[in-house]
Amino acid sequence: MIDFHCHLDLYSDPVAVVSSLQAHHIGVLSVTTTPSAFKGTASLARDDRRIRTALGFHPELAATRQHELPLFETLFGQTRFIGEVGLDGSPGLRHTWAVQEIVFSRVLDRCVEARDKVVSVHSRRAAEPVLDMLEARPRIPGLVLHWFTGNATEVDRATGLGCWFGVSPAMLASQKGRQIASRVPRDRVVCETDGPFGRSRGELSMPWHVLDMPALLAPVWSVSEAAAARLIGRNEARLLEGSS
Ligand code: MN
Repeated sequence: MIDFHCHLDLYSDPVAVVSSLQAHHIGVLSVTTTPSAFKGTASLARDDRRIRTALGFHPELAATRQHELPLFETLFGQTRFIGEVGLDGSPGLRHTWAVQEIVFSRVLDRCVEARDKVVSVHSRRAAEPVLDMLEARPRIPGLVLHWFTGNATEVDRATGLGCWFGVSPAMLASQKGRQIASRVPRDRVVCETDGPFGRSRGELSMPWHVLDMPALLAPVWSVSEAAAARLIGRNEARLLEGSS
């Protein structure tokens, strides 16, 4: 299984987490929050091909790191994986909205040109403006809405736009998260933890908690745990293949 959204570089001991990954036989999409974090985070993976490092530009940091946009452009060709990027409409970030839009527009435009990117997108309190920006552009086949919290109409709209959805154990711990997961087409779901943020198994989220997802999604989908695991595996393969 693959954890499609984890911040390996934000654990207190990233090297220890990376060592434990091998024992759990899981892959990780190792997202970053700034272009300047990409090289150091990529070096954590060493030659482990199961860790794929994504080039990110988190909306919370868009305003203070706007000067890193040229670095983002420089690094863009070095990885197929982009994230964490997006928009955040939280009240404390409202004053940065214009810069967030500039950064996310540029990121999306590059991803449209590149065609083959897998992109992990943040949309907290910004589901509608994120979907508006996607709708205004040609489809990006590998676009994953990470921890989506939009309403039913927005879930359906995102589905119509060809988005994937990253679902986590922490998300399924809430009634709203389970409602979203049950509304999303099951062939558009991949799994994630967003570690070290959020909690699962009563502790800080760790990338191997993604292994709990077949058991957590089985009742949502009314299928066996084995069938849920097969579905997830097929979805992961399709997303990485670039088929929509
Ligand atoms: Mn995140």
